[in-house]
Amino acid sequence: MNLAEKLIISRPLYISDSDDPKCGYCKGQKDNDNKFATEGWRDLHKDDLDTIKFQSTTVGFHTELITAEMYDKLCNLGYRRSGNFIYKTDMLRNCCRLYTIRTNKTYLKMSKELKMCLRKFKKNITSAEFKPKSHYSDWVEELCDYQSNSSTFKTVFEPALFSEEKFQLYVKYQESIHHDEGNTRDQFESFLCNSPFSEEEIMGTSEEWEQLNNWFNLKSDDVILRNGPVHECYYHNGKLIAVAVLDFFPSGISSVYFIWDPDYSKWSLGKVSALREIAILSKINRPYYYLGYYIEDCPKMNYKAKYGGEILDVCNNKYIPLSKVSPMLKNGELFVGTNQPTGALRQEIDTLSTEKVNFEENFHNAADEIYGPNGVAFETSNQSAQLLKRYGLNYDVTKTRDIYIHNDNNDKTDPHSRSRIHRFPNFVPGLVPLTEILEYFENGTIREVNRNTMIFDTRFHSIRVLKDLELENSDTKTAICDVIRLIGLNNTKNAIVII
Ligand SMILES: [Zn+2]
Repeated sequence: MNLAEKLIISRPLYISDSDDPKCGYCKGQKDNDNKFATEGWRDLHKDDLDTIKFQSTTVGFHTELITAEMYDKLCNLGYRRSGNFIYKTDMLRNCCRLYTIRTNKTYLKMSKELKMCLRKFKKNITSAEFKPKSHYSDWVEELCDYQSNSSTFKTVFEPALFSEEKFQLYVKYQESIHHDEGNTRDQFESFLCNSPFSEEEIMGTSEEWEQLNNWFNLKSDDVILRNGPVHECYYHNGKLIAVAVLDFFPSGISSVYFIWDPDYSKWSLGKVSALREIAILSKINRPYYYLGYYIEDCPKMNYKAKYGGEILDVCNNKYIPLSKVSPMLKNGELFVGTNQPTGALRQEIDTLSTEKVNFEENFHNAADEIYGPNGVAFETSNQSAQLLKRYGLNYDVTKTRDIYIHNDNNDKTDPHSRSRIHRFPNFVPGLVPLTEILEYFENGTIREVNRNTMIFDTRFHSIRVLKDLELENSDTKTAICDVIRLIGLNNTKNAIVII
């Protein structure tokens, strides 16, 4: 067994924070009316809107070790990482809907704004003597030509390690752009340098870096080697002016964060970096550029639509072009696409479907049919929770269909209203439903974790192979089932779970 290929994770966490302003996106400022995931929930609560406490939720786990390949799979299940923490939100209970968005050169339409950005980039990095070609086959060739003819601008790809110069740029950027004071070296390191990848993947080989640093000279059939975290440092006349924090993995490049020198605000470096990364992607022959989360009703996050692309329907594990799905995301609602006359609940989390979505017959948003106040999810998951007790699992069986916490006394100082770690609700869009977990127990599929999944027991500081899940105590069983709900059965077989 090769430990470096294992996924080492904490038991899954469900953190909810009903102190509204904690949501980093709407800051609690959105009208309560617009925080509901579906029309059905909005209707149900139209008369007691003021007593509902909306939540900002996080579903995730800490990870000590992950391969770039596994992280790729998790990104395609809607997760992102912040340092070593891998997370997504509860798309139903959260105040905002965060959709994974990815794009590429085919999806990108060069708008006036982006063309202007490219022209400005040329002006900023090339000299007056530079003669552009009379004809470029596309904007990627154009961008490569500017960059290779610049004597003042260059970027360097390197391991995602700390340097004083990067840290100073980060502090300047956070203070000036986000009015965020008091940034420490520790915070910078845990956010933008630390990652859960192995030492080999973090450091890479000299061949990998050399190849990546010559990306604009790659031939169309060159296979790029780099996988893992990357800092791309932008220099102008030898001075560090920006750092793109990126993750490279088999299906593409994921943008983690981008910091830039506020003195260069006229350069539109944010847009330049997105264009450059899409250009790099096409030169290294990988399919997608992951821009993080798209939030339809959040100006800070919906600018991503200008690069085109597709968003992930976490319930069906399918990507749908933004152009097709936009009308169904109005007011940032939950979207669950289906061609079924009524929504089906079964979610395939282990295998990513490449099947094309047929938009013609019956295609509609089934979020309310499944997760609404009268949707099928409540009944089926509650029944399954009841039946799973037979197998020693302790999921709650609840009588109330409501998913919201009511704040009747309106006491903002209530300590319980702050950030809390909860048990997982019985149904969360994008997690393996309890009906499927029940099926695993009934048909014996659950035994596939035996002799595959490993447990790091913090009470004894020992690591052991999970011999027989059914013989474990209820707490361990539930923790393993929660892992399956989050990442699927196959990925769980490869995991070492810290309990
Ligand atoms: Zn929000």
